[in-house]
Amino acid sequence: MSHLTQTKLARLKQRKDTARPSHGSNMRTASILIVEDEPSIIDPLALSLERENYHVLIAEDGLSACRLIGEEEPDLIILDILLPDFNGWEVCRMLRQHPIPRIATTPVIMLTALTSPEDKIRGLELGADLFLPKPFSIRELQLLSAKLIERRQHTILLEQDLQKITRQQEERINFTHLLFHELRNQLFVIDGYTQLLSSGHKTDNYKDAILRSSEYLNTLAEDMLLIRQVQDGGFRLNSESLIIKDVLQEMIEVYATQAQEKDVNFNLVCDDDGQAILLNRPALKVILSTLIDNALKYGPAGQTVTIDCCQALDLIVIKVIDRGVKIPTEERERIFEPFYRAKTFAKQIRGSGLGLHGVKVLSRAMGGNVNLENIKEEGNCFQVSLPLTPDKT
Ligand code: CA
Repeated sequence: MSHLTQTKLARLKQRKDTARPSHGSNMRTASILIVEDEPSIIDPLALSLERENYHVLIAEDGLSACRLIGEEEPDLIILDILLPDFNGWEVCRMLRQHPIPRIATTPVIMLTALTSPEDKIRGLELGADLFLPKPFSIRELQLLSAKLIERRQHTILLEQDLQKITRQQEERINFTHLLFHELRNQLFVIDGYTQLLSSGHKTDNYKDAILRSSEYLNTLAEDMLLIRQVQDGGFRLNSESLIIKDVLQEMIEVYATQAQEKDVNFNLVCDDDGQAILLNRPALKVILSTLIDNALKYGPAGQTVTIDCCQALDLIVIKVIDRGVKIPTEERERIFEPFYRAKTFAKQIRGSGLGLHGVKVLSRAMGGNVNLENIKEEGNCFQVSLPLTPDKT
């Protein structure tokens, strides 16, 4: 940078301080890097591009150009060839060899006084998109820039879509693989015990095992259908007016018998002022029933299960707290994966492996989330946050 004059530094700083104007809500403002050492060209060119709402970056030598390309990832480079230190040929060669594909494919317009057919061919061979001889028309350069940038942004959007589809495809394949693995395991259990029973062994344990496996398969099928419907977008989570305290009480009543069998008490804490809010009732009920069911299954007999509901800013936060064995920190994220069972409970009780995964999918489909909070006392606290939309009708 030592060779830059004070004027040049001032100009660079001034450009850098200019806020990036916006071209629209989805796409960042397109940026153009001008690599040029002639102030009489830089200023009118930069000004005309800024008037078109581009974010303009300037490098007055090849080295600064390479640095700015890496730091700012411009959407287009207007590249002079005769430059101090690295010339434009070198800059273009290095750009095309960049390890990040998105940078390596940045469109380049070579702008130069070298106008022989050999120079043009050399520029195009090095990967320039266009080769414009000096003197040039600023209007023509504006139009060509717009075209190249539009094409690039279109390509980037297509690439993002493709990546998303590939990711979804991979998730789907993994999910299907896990599902069949789980189905095979359960059918193996049922088949084994059925054979024992039919060969004359009569033990209630066998019947119970078959019953547990078939109940599990049933829950699995229901969970899977709901989650699939939500993920496929074919199941719209429409909001309806409800009073959260009423839904919580209703769910506690559903589990009253099961709780009584294990001598479990529910402690409902709700700062609800009776205001109706908008949420999807079936999804909320599936979330609550999974969390309450888990708290009863995995928590000890005689425990108190706390269901705490409060409003925080624009969120409704529901916590289900049991007094069971604490799920280790390293498993805190993994328990929301399909078919993952916390090691502590894996051998203890057969539960639906989709339960917590389903809670996550449904919470997210409603614009919220679920996580396992870290609490000091023994036990686990599942926290569901959902957007709070008061029903004003
Ligand atoms: Ca030059």
